[in-house]
Amino acid sequence: MALANHHLYRGHSLLRRIPSDVRAAVTSRIVFPRASVVAQASPMATAAAPEAPTAQAGSAQKRVVFVVGGPGSGKGTQCDMLARDFGVPFFSAGELIRSLIASGCPEGKQLQDIILQGHIIPSEVTVGLLQKAMATTTSDTVLIDGFPRNHENRTVWASQVGYDCDMVLLFDCPDEVMLQRLLGRAGQGSRADDNEETIKKRVKNFKSQMEPVLEHYRAIGKVTTIRTDRPIADVYAEVSGIWRQRFANTTAA
Ligand code: UDP
Ligand code: MG
Repeated sequence: MALANHHLYRGHSLLRRIPSDVRAAVTSRIVFPRASVVAQASPMATAAAPEAPTAQAGSAQKRVVFVVGGPGSGKGTQCDMLARDFGVPFFSAGELIRSLIASGCPEGKQLQDIILQGHIIPSEVTVGLLQKAMATTTSDTVLIDGFPRNHENRTVWASQVGYDCDMVLLFDCPDEVMLQRLLGRAGQGSRADDNEETIKKRVKNFKSQMEPVLEHYRAIGKVTTIRTDRPIADVYAEVSGIWRQRFANTTAA
């Protein structure tokens, strides 16, 4: 079965590009943490959650690849291409959050404020969105773009989902290049956080908050780093090579 229509693309016409089944799944019955948890969501929020796996009955374990990197490092572009060529479903944490906000949920304003500050929204919300999105596909392998963003994201994933990722693809791009790329698209699209002030905060927060996450995954040998301040096709040659080598038997489900 072709999975092409399961991909969550980056881009401006967000709601049209998220398949309606995924959109309906993720915007319904979202369980929000208490308001106090939302209020505490700050760049430094690192409330540790238990890491012991507590997989829910019936949730099939998938092979998960996290694609992480600073804003403007090219995650969405490369994930689009992997999804197209390998038929792997691709879920963008940022786009799922924007879709939830656009659906008019009561917490939308609070979530939008957090995003405009370049901060990270409560992990329970993001992990809930990702779980619902993953439940829409039977593929045993999924790509997740832009998650985890901090230590708390990772530990909440571990406790809520119950299994860890197989691989972390880290897109390494100099701050200055990311900044120029994002400023280049600033004001062109529908993303309110693509303004200079927020972009600078996103870059700064990425660097400080991802460090403990990367330390953890490096220690267990899960990180593959790719330099992404190169032409898209050059980066993709490397990314697709890694994919082929790692998931040689992956076929579109
Ligand atoms: N975001 C979040 N948690 C996530 C992913 C995204 O809180 O797991 C928020 C965060 O405020 C981030 C924004 O959504 O700055 C946009 O994320 P996205 O991945 O779309 O964009 P990027 O910063 O990678 O360009
Ligand atoms: Mg993105």
